[in-house]
Amino acid sequence: MAAFDRGAVSALLDRLVAEGRAAAASGRPADYIPALAAADPLAVGAALCLGSGEILESGESRRRFTIQSVSKVLALAYVLETRGEEAVFSRVGKEPTGDPFNSIIRLETSDTRKPYNPLINAGAIVVSGLEPGSSGAERCAGLAAFVREAIGGRTPAIDEEVYRSESGTASRNRAIAWFLDNLGLLGGGVDEVLDAYFRQCAILLDATELARVGALFALDGLVPGSGCRLVSVRHARIVKGLMITCGLYDGSGEFCSAAGLPAKSGVGGGILASALGRMGIGAYGPALDERGNSLAGIRILTRLSEELGLFEF
Ligand code: GLN
Repeated sequence: MAAFDRGAVSALLDRLVAEGRAAAASGRPADYIPALAAADPLAVGAALCLGSGEILESGESRRRFTIQSVSKVLALAYVLETRGEEAVFSRVGKEPTGDPFNSIIRLETSDTRKPYNPLINAGAIVVSGLEPGSSGAERCAGLAAFVREAIGGRTPAIDEEVYRSESGTASRNRAIAWFLDNLGLLGGGVDEVLDAYFRQCAILLDATELARVGALFALDGLVPGSGCRLVSVRHARIVKGLMITCGLYDGSGEFCSAAGLPAKSGVGGGILASALGRMGIGAYGPALDERGNSLAGIRILTRLSEELGLFEF
């Protein structure tokens, strides 16, 4: 597809949402956070955001869902801007693990004694500990204000039920946080840092808003539409580098070979992706594969990248 033909791209999105829905049949929503299990596995949507801020969308693109691990890239960009690179990368690395997102094993076995990267749970909890503020609510409110600027306008709410459901069942994340505390990596008390992390995972966005965030990174830190700088070029590149190598956990290499785009998934079913200088993409479908990535989202992003030639390498 040479020139950008809006009608053709809208029709393509409709086709890909239908393909995504078919792909969703082989998975199911996350249930280790009990409140997520109720999601409709066939609710699938997708949206693109161009540099101008214009949105093209299809399917359940306005259905809100908890962003879960997609919050890890927002929190990373926010903390890089507010605390700086040294504060972050003295406590967390930039290397992929090949392990599941909630793995704890390398915290003890690695020589560096810090989480491998900010997009696995251990690294993200360290990042939450660097968010300005003391209580979890205060830290998350700062992040929500940053997200409001990124998506242009609305301050996102959190899903109280999902937040409480995760907080009440999170023995594994609590174990990780206590281990991080033992390593001296938490910038606050264990309970308040975890509370910030659970709240940020429960932030509610829709696929159009994920696409706006993707476009912010595609523009190297400029807000789509307004052109205001929210994230420095350097920080935007760091975030994208980590997305391409670690954004889909132990499925990152496979996704990168198939779609060629920096992206970040969450167990709520969202995936955001960023096509340099061109567009941001948000995809939603709560049925997950065994690694915790949205089946519909992977299908939609992979096919869209093929059809529009979005490969970045
Ligand atoms: N809140 C989730 C957790 O910590 C986020 C995980 C994810 O989206 N992969 O388990």
